[in-house]
Amino acid sequence: MGRNDLLLIGALLLLAGAAALAMARTGGAGAYVQVTADGETIGRYPLGEDRTVTIGTDRYNILEIRDGAAAVVEANCHDFTCVRTGRISQAGERIVCLPHRLVVEVVGGQSGPGGIDAAAGDGP
Ligand SMILES: [Zn+2]
Repeated sequence: MGRNDLLLIGALLLLAGAAALAMARTGGAGAYVQVTADGETIGRYPLGEDRTVTIGTDRYNILEIRDGAAAVVEANCHDFTCVRTGRISQAGERIVCLPHRLVVEVVGGQSGPGGIDAAAGDGP
């Protein structure tokens, strides 16, 4: 094994480490929020990218994605359950706005406390 091979392996290890760090920060590779209104998927936004999305016009919900978590920060529904739900970041967590028939759900990603092990313990 030559000196160049060792350098290459070192570079690869560094890259792998950086990728793992990035995933840990954003809640898993490929994690995103799926927005469903009236049973139709109207948008998907990666949790790793900060953004604010206004959903709807007359009946609106403002979805904010920040620091790897999503939250409905403002809405003009009458019960504000969606706003009170707070921030979600783990796969399977969801924010529901019943008056607006809106669901925001975290999909994908393999991380989170327990992860795959927790899901395996769920079986019959
Ligand atoms: Zn609501």
